[in-house]
Amino acid sequence: MKPSIEKLQKFFKLEAERGYDNHAVMGGLENMLNHWEAEAHADGLPDELIQAIVTRIKDYSRLSETSRAEALEGILRRIQRAENNQVSEAEIETGISDSIEDRGISAAPTELEKLIEEQSLPKEASESQIQERLPQPEQTLTPEPLEVVEPVELETPITELKGIGPRHEKSLNRLGLYNLGDMLYHFPWRYDDYSQLRPINRLMYGDVVTVIGTVDSMTVRTIKSGKSKIVEGVVSDGSASLRVTWFNQEWIAKRLRKGTHIALSGKIDQYLGRLVINNPEWEPLEQQQLNTNRIVPVYPLTTQITQRWLRRQMDALANQWAPRVIDPLPVSLRQSANLVSLPTALNQIHFPDSWDDLSHAQERLAFDEIFLLQLGVLRQKHTWIEGGARAFHAEENWLNGQIARLPFSLTAAQQKALNDITHDLASGRPMNRLLQGDVGSGKTVIAALGIAIVVHKGAQAAIMAPTSILAEQHYNNMFKILSDPVVLPGVGLDYANMAPALRRSEIRLLIGATPETEKRQILAGLASGSIKLVIGTHALIEDPVEFANLQMVVVDEQHRFGVDQRASLRSKGANPHLLVMTATPIPRSLALTIYGDLDLSVVDEMPPGRIPVNTYVLYPRERERAYELIRSQVQKGQQAFIIYPLVEEGDNSDTKAAVNEYSLLQEEIFPDLAVGLLHGRMKPEEKEIVMRQFRDGAYQILVSTSVIEVGVDVPNAAVMLVEGANRFGLAQLHQFRGRVGRGSDQSYCLLIPESPDDIENERLQVMEKTNDGFVLAEYDLEQRGPGQFLGTRQSGYSELKLANLTDVRLIEKARRYALSLFEDDPNLTKPEHQPLVSYLDQAWGGKKGDIS
Ligand code: ADP
Ligand code: MG
Repeated sequence: MKPSIEKLQKFFKLEAERGYDNHAVMGGLENMLNHWEAEAHADGLPDELIQAIVTRIKDYSRLSETSRAEALEGILRRIQRAENNQVSEAEIETGISDSIEDRGISAAPTELEKLIEEQSLPKEASESQIQERLPQPEQTLTPEPLEVVEPVELETPITELKGIGPRHEKSLNRLGLYNLGDMLYHFPWRYDDYSQLRPINRLMYGDVVTVIGTVDSMTVRTIKSGKSKIVEGVVSDGSASLRVTWFNQEWIAKRLRKGTHIALSGKIDQYLGRLVINNPEWEPLEQQQLNTNRIVPVYPLTTQITQRWLRRQMDALANQWAPRVIDPLPVSLRQSANLVSLPTALNQIHFPDSWDDLSHAQERLAFDEIFLLQLGVLRQKHTWIEGGARAFHAEENWLNGQIARLPFSLTAAQQKALNDITHDLASGRPMNRLLQGDVGSGKTVIAALGIAIVVHKGAQAAIMAPTSILAEQHYNNMFKILSDPVVLPGVGLDYANMAPALRRSEIRLLIGATPETEKRQILAGLASGSIKLVIGTHALIEDPVEFANLQMVVVDEQHRFGVDQRASLRSKGANPHLLVMTATPIPRSLALTIYGDLDLSVVDEMPPGRIPVNTYVLYPRERERAYELIRSQVQKGQQAFIIYPLVEEGDNSDTKAAVNEYSLLQEEIFPDLAVGLLHGRMKPEEKEIVMRQFRDGAYQILVSTSVIEVGVDVPNAAVMLVEGANRFGLAQLHQFRGRVGRGSDQSYCLLIPESPDDIENERLQVMEKTNDGFVLAEYDLEQRGPGQFLGTRQSGYSELKLANLTDVRLIEKARRYALSLFEDDPNLTKPEHQPLVSYLDQAWGGKKGDIS
């Protein structure tokens, strides 16, 4: 073996033993790359291989533990493949297997394949040839081109499949498998490569292999200590012999008598200096070799289903039924996107002929997922836009006057977002826009100006926020921005155009805590149209609110609302303009996929004069230092937040944690300071009182659970201390951090994980390095997956199984094709698109892609 490869294997092994903590090489695996690359070139490894390895290791430190394991395994497989290509003379010379020769032949095109190639027939033709050799389902057809093979319904119940009786039906149901489609889309969660046969005398400890041999002996032994039985055997192949053991499977001894030819697949272990294989997959050789001698799928299982049984079913499905599945993609699209057919993909995903075939199958199936997701959102957008909307033209002088009312000038990013919005409002089509920007980037003002345009023409607008505190803050802001008289005296000011857009009485707040009598007033005012802008919480949709003329809806922190809630608010007007705001930066790939129906404006610039927050990750034992910092800041007249994580949703322990810590802090650590407490179990009024007191300086320190996250705007707060920081996503920590640094002084964000675990610390340290919410979001996406960004966004859409939402290349490709298909056939009415429409409806569970 080449020294450079050996070295890699050594480090990978060490890394695996250390649980992938990236410490096998000092400074991380990436650190070895330069040197290793040179060595690999010197060893004469193919450039392509070196490049593939380097690319994968480069990102290693940024991967999660599981991804790390996968990355390293992937590299090892890649190496193995490269080695196999360099011809396995050793294997041929031992002549242990005909099947190797078989494979040798089938690797080169057969006469038939050459013929097919020349006539450029679709690959399916050869599949139906294959089909011919297999046992056929009920109505057997003579082999013909695929088009005339009777198509199969994916809804066909599993009970109609051969070999699945009532007992297995139950177990399969438990896996969520009810029909043929469920089965075909029940993908292996990994594959074992048993295609590499080796003689026993060449086996090494740790190898995962298939061995073919003859049973020399087979005995059952009872372990002294208990009732366990061990089946022990010796299998030899002429080159050497190997010990085999199975635990508690006595019956095996009866099946595998001396002299039986068998194939064993599994991992080579060592026991008392001898090589053994424990609990291997096995198969008498005369049977069809499903489980061995090839790349073998490994399925998620449930009780009463064995890997062997399920594999056999899947083999039948993949060979007999997959070829009859209708491919919903138009052939032209499939060819231009360079994708294999759905029948091929569904066959190869289960029983790949090679790693390449597998990756083509995966690519095709992942493409489908994203493509259908995109089509769904585009279809929704299309229906929605078709409805039309009232156009609002803002006169330039008037709008400039409104901007001049503000105590600051807009940043370029704000100006750009505002342009997007004025353009939407004037278009005659409903605005459908996501306004994205870091905490404090000034989104509120933009929304307010959009609202001003609408209410200036006499129509109504509504803002929905996830909490009372936030609704109230918006209310106060709107009040100032939209209804305060201008106080600036100035020569030549355009006072006429600077007149407030609304009177105070035209802006109202509707939250759960609003007293009944006031509520009734507000409802009446909205119904008559005398109230122009209402700001509220869920109360807006829960109460019987009716609007005279609702034309614009603003939803803040949209990921906190369910699909139905947004839809319900929107339905209170006739196709109103919709602006959703979020401070959670969404990675680009996700924005494209999941928010494909929304136009995007990004406020990617902070108002001037902000001092970046200094962030530190501390060990738990350094907590004293954090308290010191808080103390010194308080002496300077600043305030501090201390956040405790929500320990478990639904129980009280988060509150308890905060409450306990609160008393400890107040009584023992800061007895001389005023400490306030805020948690999710308090009534809205109580929270409001505490927040107001904190904002007004009655407390120097505020202890809180994560309810603080979306709320409060306290310019005087300079320290954000987060306990249990490891429990939060980076995007969320970034939100906490956004709560400080709003004033003119240096602020601090201190993060303390629960344990001094280095890995946690490493993850958190990204917070020290960047203040860019988008960078953090990308990182979060990689580490923790897309769940936290999705909220209820995807509801209605079946889960993505194969597609990786970080795979920008695939996503952009799918999006490109979805868009062009839509351009060509906006209503999806062309006959060739009908199979697609039914797939689309299936993927969306019968719902349309209504997700805003
Ligand atoms: P976001 O909602 O994006 O978190 P806000 O709209 O609440 O941010 O703005 C944060 C603070 O910055 C507010 O106090 C706001 O008045 C102020 N602000 C907004 N735009 C500007 C600007 N262009 N220049 C200076 N301050 C601004
Ligand atoms: Mg805000």
